[in-house]
Amino acid sequence: MKKSVLFRKFIMIFVITTAVSTLVLVSAYTLLSKDRLLAQKINELSPIANAVALLTTEHLESKLDHETYLYLCKEMASSVDSYILIVETSYSHRYLSEAVDDPEFINDFKRFIATDNKFFSGERFFSKDLKISGKAYVCTAAHIYDDSGTILGNTFVLIEQSRVFSNLVYSNYNIIISALISLPFATIVPISGVIRALKPTKNLIMVAKEVSQGNYEAKANEKIDGEFGTIARAINTMTDRVSNMVREVRVEKRQLNQIIAGLSDGIAAIDTNGRIMHYNPALMNMFGAVGVSTREELVPHPEIWEVFDAVLEADEVRMITYHTDDGRAIWITVSTIYDDENNCSGAVGLFKDSTEAERLDNMRKEYIANISHEFRTPLTAIRGLLEPLSDNMVPDDETKQRYYNIMLDEVGRLSRLISDMMTISKLQSNALTFELEPVNVAEKLKQLAVSVNASALKKNIEVVFEVQEDLAALTDNDRLSQVLVILTDNAIKYTKEGGKVAVSAKYEKDFSYLLNEPNVAISNPSYNSNKCKDKIIISITDNGVGIPSMDLQRIFERFYTVSKSRTKGSTGLGLSIAQQILEALGETLIVKSVEDKGSTFMITLTEFNPIRDKEYLY
Ligand code: ADP
Repeated sequence: MKKSVLFRKFIMIFVITTAVSTLVLVSAYTLLSKDRLLAQKINELSPIANAVALLTTEHLESKLDHETYLYLCKEMASSVDSYILIVETSYSHRYLSEAVDDPEFINDFKRFIATDNKFFSGERFFSKDLKISGKAYVCTAAHIYDDSGTILGNTFVLIEQSRVFSNLVYSNYNIIISALISLPFATIVPISGVIRALKPTKNLIMVAKEVSQGNYEAKANEKIDGEFGTIARAINTMTDRVSNMVREVRVEKRQLNQIIAGLSDGIAAIDTNGRIMHYNPALMNMFGAVGVSTREELVPHPEIWEVFDAVLEADEVRMITYHTDDGRAIWITVSTIYDDENNCSGAVGLFKDSTEAERLDNMRKEYIANISHEFRTPLTAIRGLLEPLSDNMVPDDETKQRYYNIMLDEVGRLSRLISDMMTISKLQSNALTFELEPVNVAEKLKQLAVSVNASALKKNIEVVFEVQEDLAALTDNDRLSQVLVILTDNAIKYTKEGGKVAVSAKYEKDFSYLLNEPNVAISNPSYNSNKCKDKIIISITDNGVGIPSMDLQRIFERFYTVSKSRTKGSTGLGLSIAQQILEALGETLIVKSVEDKGSTFMITLTEFNPIRDKEYLY
């Protein structure tokens, strides 16, 4: 089982403490025992010295033969593991045990004796620390007397201190061995105590690990006694707080992400190293990015990223309009972002596709220019005629009448212009209401025939109708009339005298083929081939001047006229009105035209279905 660091540290401390204690014990024991051992040795050696002194006296008095004397001396010396030295008053030595039969030692010893008279004065000598020839000895002495009590010499018994202490080494050794043997037994109790004491930390460690891995539901056991209980409660309080904070941050982050993801504008943020940090789906869509790992994969226009880098460098906001190769205009605002310590931590850019806004802006400018132009032309003409009239410069009535007629035409043109503009304005502001109802197409075209008759007759234009009888459309009756009048008026207007206009209506199962034909334009480009099914098509065909293919795509624009010279008195608003009405009805206008050959304008209508559209029956 893997023990905790705390546990291992405790064992280490315990072992070190035991080792140090043993060392201190051994040292103290050695220190304290030394003196006592030396004193003990002197006590041990003193009787030997006395005995040898007596034997020597016996020997000197020839009561003891030389061999026996030597033998006894040797025995006594070896019994205490010491040396014996007999020194006569004349400083000549008599006997030395073998170990000190060393001239240098003898000389040194004699020199030592010579320093003091006490060896022959009857005073008893002993030393625990006698230094001879560089070695320390324990030494004791006894006087040798003759019968009359005269001191003949001294008996010295010596033993090297190291020999005395050799026992001490054994004792220390034994202490250490005993300590080692007792160590496992001595550790059992403290170890089990430590294990028990550390048990609660397991729970705390486990909880701390869980929390560090993001599991804020983990709870420490608060029932633990003592300090660990306090720690457990503190951990739980801390975990609760962190958990709440993390939850709040997560909620905020999620909301922020959702807001950013839901933005129709693109957002990109980079860090100070220029690496991409955040971006949203709108930005990916804007630049068609799929997998994004670098900023160039997200926005493949290095010039834009150079602006980001410049913002980071200069720490200032920059705004640019970037025009892509495919003709889009993108407004980009880049500013720096700051961290808690107010240090620059990156840059964020807001991307707004302003193509439509720019287009509208251009259109607005163009519109104002067009209006000014359209108003100025008739007004200039009227003014040019009014001035000579008011100055009485026009002499005859016939000319005056001609001037009045021209002015009347111009005023009519102005009022048509204003009326068309108001219609467009209402259509654009959704102020016009559309009321769907079943409309009999044949009936409708018969009414149209009556209304165009006069203008057709004026230009000797034949208008023919070819109508499928049973057709009913679900549409706004009045708006349909408006569209048909615009288209038939145009057909007559742009057809030379003696020309022909044909109006037809029929049901078409599928007319998507039209979109692929040459010289065809559709007013509502989003009207794809899938929608070109099951419609009533009203076509107005003329054999007039036609429309050049280069102008075909633009004739639905406001104020667009193919050529001023051939469209005298036109406003360029008719087709725009027709297109907007049809778009509001969910229909479209298709034109097929060849210059100098003629044009066909087709409008789609939804067939009335009595079952499906019964709510429109009244
Ligand atoms: P207006 O007819 O008042 O000029 P429109 O919006 O109705 O405005 O028509 C736009 C332009 O389309 C006209 O100026 C004309 O050049 C062209 N156009 C429209 N209808 C026809 C047509 N039937 N034949 C030829 N050109 C036409």
